[in-house]
Amino acid sequence: MTRTSPWRIPLLAIGLLSMLLACSPEPGTYHHRFLAFGTLMDLTIAGVPEDRASAAGKALEDDFSVMHAVWHAWTPGPLTRTNSLLAEGRTFSAPPSVLPLVALSKRLAEQSDNLFNPAIGRLIRLWGFQSDEPTRSRPPPDAELIRQEVAKRPRMSDITIDDYRLKSSNPAVQLDFGAIGKGYGIDLGIAHLRELGIDNAIINAGGDLRAIGRNGDRPWRIAIRGADGEGVLGYLETTGDESVFTSGDYERGFTWEGRHYHHIIDPRTGYPAQGTRSVTVVSTDAATADAAATALFVAGPAQWPRIAARMGITQVLLVDSAGVLHMTPAMQQRLHLLDADGADIVITPASASTP
Ligand code: AMP
Ligand code: MG
Repeated sequence: MTRTSPWRIPLLAIGLLSMLLACSPEPGTYHHRFLAFGTLMDLTIAGVPEDRASAAGKALEDDFSVMHAVWHAWTPGPLTRTNSLLAEGRTFSAPPSVLPLVALSKRLAEQSDNLFNPAIGRLIRLWGFQSDEPTRSRPPPDAELIRQEVAKRPRMSDITIDDYRLKSSNPAVQLDFGAIGKGYGIDLGIAHLRELGIDNAIINAGGDLRAIGRNGDRPWRIAIRGADGEGVLGYLETTGDESVFTSGDYERGFTWEGRHYHHIIDPRTGYPAQGTRSVTVVSTDAATADAAATALFVAGPAQWPRIAARMGITQVLLVDSAGVLHMTPAMQQRLHLLDADGADIVITPASASTP
């Protein structure tokens, strides 16, 4: 890594979250907002008459309400049924809503050296992050219970897919799609928009988004801002098809005896991953960006370039726990930083970040 210390930017970033820059919308830009995945979804459509945009907005709202229900980790439904059958070690026909996510997650888990590991649902439940009240103050789980769960080594590779049938060779495997479901859902949403003839749009789920086409005769402008909401760190412009996803330690978590425990678990230790505040990833499809942001958060400042290369991710911005920014050259080339006084930036050489 090369350290370019004269580059300094503000220490706004306790964690980062991407959002649309507050710029006045182009004429003909249509917005539709609704709740899904526990977050405010913001659909922006440009370049089509309002009645078509409005019909597309309603169609997507329906899609997301179905996805929210079928991938819910603890409300009874297809995923909880899948988890019961995986724990029993039986061969069973997978619910159609679950099967593609299992297949995709197996590949991304393998590419990330299991740092993205949606098979650790039991650990996530032990930490209380499978709950409607994940921020309630409480003690962390018993260290021995965490140790026991880690020792069971649940992995996506424990699941075999035979056509439409699934089977787990490890009874400790429990699926939690919290780190990929939003991304995969956005990919399905973009595919649906395209089928409706909409080629210029953004689906934004609380700051994680995929943007296609452009905003009239301008690019879409995507801001990267400080998680405290007190400033924009920088922005990206996009005119093609790109997803921007951020995983941050500020998103979910609780505080106990002065210590903050966040929701991104290192599957190797069973504890919240250390050393990172946030990771922003740009990639074409949203599912990969979502899973990669989580994996690189767990990988941390020392290991993220290796995991990014394995996952085929070339655009990364990582803020470590000291506030230092680490970037791939491809990210550095396009990220417009808005202030020039603050934390050190570390640029990772292309050789380490290009697959
Ligand atoms: P994200 O905000 O996309 O980084 O996803 C975090 C969510 O994914 C958490 O709330 C958990 O439900 C789940 N999760 C936590 N740690 C991991 C991990 N290492 N691999 C996969 N999923 C995880
Ligand atoms: Mg994620």
